[in-house]
Amino acid sequence: MGPDWYCDEVIPGKVKIGVLAQTENTLAFRPPLPGFGTDHIIVIPTRHVSSLLDLDDDLTIELLTTVKKIAAWAVDQHGGCQVLTTLGNEQHNKHLHWHVAVGDGVARFVPRA
Ligand SMILES: [Zn+2]
Repeated sequence: MGPDWYCDEVIPGKVKIGVLAQTENTLAFRPPLPGFGTDHIIVIPTRHVSSLLDLDDDLTIELLTTVKKIAAWAVDQHGGCQVLTTLGNEQHNKHLHWHVAVGDGVARFVPRA
């Protein structure tokens, strides 16, 4: 994956993905195998936005509505999920993307003893 796998390959349709939801400016999909665990869905804007910090208000509503729809589906299907996005040096792909993770794909935040 390059620095912007989403603009380079996903949005132009160069890789096989499983689309779960799509709106005018957003896309929710399962990434190609190997995935991230039990189930894992990625939600992106279909035009370039670097990160949450660069997201404008109009697209925020549309994007979060897609995230919410996928999260509701994941809760219904699996009983729960984790929704997260990364920023700065924790963000490896510099195109805003939300992870909706289920089961063993969930990052566990364990308090330090
Ligand atoms: Zn991009």
